Amino acid sequence: MKVLLVESSRFHQIMISQIFNNEGLVVRIVNSSDEAIMVLEEETMDFICTAYHLPDGFDGIKLARQIRNNPDTKDTPVILLTSNDIDQSFDYAYDSGITEIYNRSDINALSKNLKTSIQNKRNEINARVLFIEDSKTVARHMIKQMESMKISVRHFYSADTAFKAFKKSPKEYDLIITDLLVEGRLNGMGFIREIRKLYPDRSKLPILVVSGYDDTPRRIELLRMGANDYIVKPIIREELSARLSNLITTKQLFDQVKIQQEQLFQLAMTDQLTGLYNRHSLAQLLPKYFSHSVRYSSPLSLLVLDIDHFKHINDSYGHSRGDDVLRKFGQLIIENFRSEDLTARYGGEEFIVLMANSPVQNAHKKAEELRKHIATHLIEGLKITISIGVSSADSQTSFDELFNQADSALYHAKESGRNQTVIYPVNSIEV
Ligand code: GH3
Ligand code: MG
Ligand code: MG
Repeated sequence: MKVLLVESSRFHQIMISQIFNNEGLVVRIVNSSDEAIMVLEEETMDFICTAYHLPDGFDGIKLARQIRNNPDTKDTPVILLTSNDIDQSFDYAYDSGITEIYNRSDINALSKNLKTSIQNKRNEINARVLFIEDSKTVARHMIKQMESMKISVRHFYSADTAFKAFKKSPKEYDLIITDLLVEGRLNGMGFIREIRKLYPDRSKLPILVVSGYDDTPRRIELLRMGANDYIVKPIIREELSARLSNLITTKQLFDQVKIQQEQLFQLAMTDQLTGLYNRHSLAQLLPKYFSHSVRYSSPLSLLVLDIDHFKHINDSYGHSRGDDVLRKFGQLIIENFRSEDLTARYGGEEFIVLMANSPVQNAHKKAEELRKHIATHLIEGLKITISIGVSSADSQTSFDELFNQADSALYHAKESGRNQTVIYPVNSIEV
């Protein structure tokens, strides 16, 4: 954890930073409020501690006001240090955003309270909890504790209403806490059962049960039914804090791993040069297109696009210029087709577009638009042309067949002089 100390006296700089160091905080020292603002723009601090007197006629309270007005620092605690020689009341300082005030002559109080503040900060967990408890007193007590840990709590007195609210926005919660015996149709057990029907995976949504009973068979039964953990009333502050933090941290780590997995998966499916899908990804993506086409009897068309004499571009201008052309070509393909069309780099300078809900005439029209655009514009400063083969599927056609058909149309386009779009079947060609 880091603290910013705003203090111009060398003597006090050393004395106060020692206190922070003793609590394991890293101290960054600045002399003036200007410097403090500069540092805060660059770095996030866990605490700010400022002297009242600052150079240039500034004071710690004015600085606090600036800190509160900045959205990045508005929640950072600001501690004000005063001295005996200041003959004024600091009550108004709190309105300006000062969190705590200490006199330098009573630095022990700072040290003592700092311990608690640091402990609280270490216990902070940003999370959302759905909480069911029908006893007002217990609920109030637990909500207070959770809120002090920066956990935001949505509280319900009955499991029925909680379950309805949960179903509306299940992704909103990091943890469910339920009392075992709650009034209403659904008790704690029933509630857990319903939640686990929707969310069988415990790491995706942990459940902590609170109960007045502490008998082993009941505990075992609860864990079997899908609760992650169990806590017995009366609630011990430290125990609740430790269990909450374990459950939520595990859940959040699990979410993070899921996101990373998804990112890795996307990366593995993407062609690094153009950002389009790669050939390998087709196995994952094609079934959706084909089953949709069959189910709704909607036409599916395939374009195979290939740059003409691309080898010549590499040979004449270098491989890296060739890469630039490929990148630009990929970009033009994305821009020219709808997001629901599947665009992929199939091989070196060969690309495909699978157009959903698209009869062959429409596919031909879109292909021609792109071909003409490329033939009439410089691509990375070069004149290039492309050839395109088009085929269309009925519900019996497989992707391989569709590809072979479009590819043979492409072959025909090349044979007939390139820079053109050809539709399969091509009667005049023997392939
Ligand atoms: P055609 O008009 O018949 O299509 O002729 P072409 O030269 O375009 O076709 P060919 O298939 O003979 O050559 C393709 C070239 O594309 C050969 C290969 O070196 C080049 N190539 C393949 N992948 C890449 C790449 O990632 N970057 C670059 N710069 N070149 C590539
Ligand atoms: Mg080519
Ligand atoms: Mg080729």
